[in-house]
Amino acid sequence: MLIDLWSLLSQEGKELCQQTNLEMDKFDTGVTCYSIVEKNPISYVFRHVSDKHILIQADIDVTLNIPCGRCLEDVKTNIKLKASKEVDLSDEPEVDDIDEFVFMDGTVFDSERFAYGEILVNLPMKVLCSNDCKGICNRCGTNLNHGSCGCDTTELDPRMAKALEIFNSFKEV
Ligand SMILES: [Zn+2]
Ligand SMILES: [Zn+2]
Repeated sequence: MLIDLWSLLSQEGKELCQQTNLEMDKFDTGVTCYSIVEKNPISYVFRHVSDKHILIQADIDVTLNIPCGRCLEDVKTNIKLKASKEVDLSDEPEVDDIDEFVFMDGTVFDSERFAYGEILVNLPMKVLCSNDCKGICNRCGTNLNHGSCGCDTTELDPRMAKALEIFNSFKEV
């Protein structure tokens, strides 16, 4: 959703409150794509602080399906954040601002782009379905949280066992 902040510029201290719905149903990081399973409307407060500087505050609350880092099962991951950014809408904004604020086009604020950037920087580095997730069997790929697969990962290769026996007998001497 696009929100024109132009009317705020007429007076310092002026405020605008607005709710928008996140339009995206998937969150595409460019590397991975997560489905969005729940989303609450985003609440914005825009305030003309002074000198055509607008303070943007947002409450974002979305839930994504992110695969567990060990067993790869989807984990509902809630991302709830408060964002706060100030943009310079004067006629000659500082050069740095132009690159950084891709969610602004002149005085028009792009909610979707803003929310995307905020969610992206707040994505968890690693998600686990539980702290004691057993992961998947590295031989057959079975999810070990649902039961064992029968692959015996403890039994040693007979030749290894023999070598170990010899090694141990030397140690005892
Ligand atoms: Zn897991
Ligand atoms: Zn297995």
